[in-house]
This record gives sequence, C-alpha cells and structure tokens, in this order.
Amino acid sequence: MSGLGKGITAASIGRILKNRGYAVTAVKIDPYLNIDAGTMNPGQHGEVFVLSDGGEVDLDLGNYERFLDIDLSSLHNITTGKIYRSVIEKERRGDYLGETVQIIPHITDEIKACIRAAACDGIPGEGPADICLVEVGGTVGDIESMPFLEAVRQMRGELPEEDTVLIHVTLIPEDSMGDLKTKPTQHSVKALRELGLYADIIVGRGQRPVGPGTKRKISAFCDLPQEGVISAATVPDIYQVPMEMEREGAADVLSEHLNLSPREADTRWYTLVEREYRGQVRVGIVSKYGVEDVYMSIKEALKHAGRASATEVKITWLDAEHYAEADLGTFDGILIPGGFGQRGTEGKINAIRYARTNRIPLLGLCLGFQLAVVEYARNVLGWKDATSAEMGEGRHVIAILPEQQGLSDLGGTMRLGNYPVTIENGTRAMRIYGKREIIERHRHRYEVNPVFIPDLEKAGLVFSGSWNNRMEICEVTDHPFFLATQFHPEFRSRPTRPSPPFLGFVEACSACRDGR
Ligand code: GLN
Repeated sequence: MSGLGKGITAASIGRILKNRGYAVTAVKIDPYLNIDAGTMNPGQHGEVFVLSDGGEVDLDLGNYERFLDIDLSSLHNITTGKIYRSVIEKERRGDYLGETVQIIPHITDEIKACIRAAACDGIPGEGPADICLVEVGGTVGDIESMPFLEAVRQMRGELPEEDTVLIHVTLIPEDSMGDLKTKPTQHSVKALRELGLYADIIVGRGQRPVGPGTKRKISAFCDLPQEGVISAATVPDIYQVPMEMEREGAADVLSEHLNLSPREADTRWYTLVEREYRGQVRVGIVSKYGVEDVYMSIKEALKHAGRASATEVKITWLDAEHYAEADLGTFDGILIPGGFGQRGTEGKINAIRYARTNRIPLLGLCLGFQLAVVEYARNVLGWKDATSAEMGEGRHVIAILPEQQGLSDLGGTMRLGNYPVTIENGTRAMRIYGKREIIERHRHRYEVNPVFIPDLEKAGLVFSGSWNNRMEICEVTDHPFFLATQFHPEFRSRPTRPSPPFLGFVEACSACRDGR
C-alpha cells in the first residue's frame, strides 16, 4: 500500500548493491493516467520532483537520485498515461497493421519495452547499469496496476531465472498485545500468486523489527526460505535503512538470486551519511500545504547541509495563512519554498519582510525568490501595488516568461530542468558556489520583469546570478544571509554533496543562533 516505504526500500536495495560495486539504475512505475506528475496537486500526491532533463516525476526518483548519487532521465518514470499515449499514437499511425489493439499483448508489450528502455538507458551520463530496480507503485489487487504486474510476470518468464528477483514489500502491523501480525502478508502473497507472481524476498515494514519467530512463520506460510524475509523497521533517519538491510543480509540474498559474484561491501557511504551533531538550529518553513512530503527534497537538502556542518536542523512548518508573527523571531532561519497560486502569498511576503528587517537568515526558493523581489519592491522601493502577474492586478515586478505567453497546455510546458546560471564576482552567491558558471534545475512560468530590474538594483537588491538577462539569484547585502534563487537547488542536493545555498543557509543559521 502507499506510504509503506517502497521507494526508500527500493532506493536502499539499490544502495547496498552499489556498495558491492554494481552499477545500479532504477525506474518507477506509477499506475495513474496522468502523463507525468507535473499537473498533480502536491498536497495529494507529494512533491513533484524535477529531473535534469526537465521531467516532472514522482518523488521516489528523488530518493533514487539521493541514495544512488546518480542523475536519472524521464525514461525512468513510467505512467499509465505515457503507456496508453504511445500505444494510441502507434494505433493511429497504423503500426499495428489492422490488429485489434488490446491490453494484452499491446499494453503489456509497451510496458516491457519501456522498462527495457529505462534499463538500457542505464545511468544517464555515466554508462550502462548492471542492475535495474523496477518499483511498481500501487497495491497488489488494484485494477490500475494489473497490466504492470502482468507485464512483470511475462518479463520474468522471458528472462533467465537468475536475471530477475521479485521483492514484495508488506506491512507487518502490531496488535493490541504487541504481537506482530503476518496475516496481511499472507493475504497479499496469495493475491500475488493468483497473478502468477512468486515473491523471492519479502521485506516486512513496521514500527518494530521482525524477529526470527515471525520470520519463520512468514517463511512457512509464504513458501520462501527464512533468509528471504528481511526486517525493515522504521528508523529515525532514512539514510540508515541501507545499513539495516545490509545487516539483515539482504545483499547476500539478492546476490544469490541474481547470481552475482560475491563482492565485499564498501561501507564508506554509511559513515558518510551518519550524523554527529555539535549544535542545532531551528528553521521555520512557511508553506500553504499541510503535508511534509510536499517538500521532501527541501527537507533532505537541509539534512545534507546539516550533516556537512555537524548541525541538526529542526524544521517547523508554519501555515502561511495562520502563523503568529511573533513566532518568526524564535527561528535561526526562515525558508520560503516554491509554490503556485495566490493562496498564502501575503503570509510568505510578510515572513520575508520580517526576516529582512530582523536580520534572520532567509532562503527563498522559486516562488520564494519571486516573493522576495515583490517584498523588496513594496517595502524598500515603496511600490505598494507591486506583485506577481500570477497573483492578479498590480505592478508586475514578476511577469510571465515571454515564451510562456498564450500557452494553453499546462502539462510539461514550464521552464523545466537544467539551465546554466552565471554568478557575479564579489557576491554571496560567488562565496557559496565558488565558481562563475553553475547548472541548476528549474520549474517556473514567471520571472523578474526585466523592465523593473534597474529600479530594484538601484534600491539595493543585488541580482548575483542571471542568464541572458533572466534573473536567477537575488541577495540583500548588509544582512547575515538573505539569498533567494529562481531555480530549485534542493533537487541536486545529495547526502554526501550538499547544495551550496542550503549549506550557506544552515551555516548562517548556526552563526545567528550563536550570536543570540
Ligand atoms: N509559481 C511560480 C512560477 O510559476 C513559482 C513556481 C515554483 O515555485 N516552482 O513561476
């Protein structure tokens, strides 16, 4: 079922295989009819992750990129929408030569072709992969995921036995007596069998570790050796999961099934992501969504930066429409994330003003960058009617990107993915990035209105990063840390390579705390 941790499980399995020297890539299957996650409400579905090629994808791809330290391409997120679109296009072209087009074999063939394409794409920019993880979203028994499970069944039959391994992730709940229950697992294993799928490995998720007794029971009822039952209890930090799985012997069982030559585990990654904190900072994130998963990459990027500076980052989520202004003063830093639409923007602008005038470190991301410009125009330039074209009438210091004007389609049409940014010498941006040319990921439809750039600059706002007169970074000097980016640095942050703006921000938060 959703929310069980299949994505972290898949990413962790990838990590332990990578730690044994294998090149690992991954593909996520989402059984919904949307072409991609770009048009989906993050409040319902979680963060829309952005790939370097501009793909707007499921947040699990973010987990794969972070755990495996690779860049993926759009080929690595398959949706029902993409599969059907491609099959219908082929039908219209006449590719099926008069055949009746059906779920089996046409849809399942297309699914297998897409899985193969992702596997053959390997690790984009690096080379081929030895192993491709295929995560099938949804729950066994869902109508939506049926064609995908059937495709997996066919693929298993077509390939040599040692070329595939089927891992089933199940919930192992606890009853009121504190006993772990295996019934849900028994039932889902049975449901899988009815589809012709036999689990080689069962990963048992729950609050508590699955002990030998429970493992024996699962092994007996589900007809697999006891070593094939892997306990995956909830741990405080997701980056500990690979280590736990390694301890559970998951790498050995996988190696046996896939006939991989045994190699010694390289455990350096575990020590790199292990945390040892000397201090703590409190960061307030002003958001209009109540769900933390909406900002998964921001949360992780703060964690990466915190680890690098031995600082634990405690996050508080502030409701942009209802927070108390007095609370803002209790934070060592304020972060304004990306977003869409008018709701909550006044609260965010107010928090930016508070951070600027009270000298609290501020990091603005995408919409946070745009609102920082609006706040500056309103309160420093005195343009009370300054706003963004996205928010309605007024003086549009933030305007629609010229190439976006008049677009009617909302899907996949924003300025998306990797674009270069040139950084100005002598700025804070230069100090944190340490180089003039950077590449970051984007997802926006609006930008700083070029008409107003001279006025904003004259009033003291520094645009320290830009590309072809497109403003990408702004900062306020004479402030402990006030920096905002049009791009989304959170998408490129990795556990062992924190994103420079996040690192700069967390370090400024520590300094702010120490100065209190
Ligand atoms: N809504 C803004 C735009 O489209 C910001 C987008 C974002 O924060 N990702 O430009």
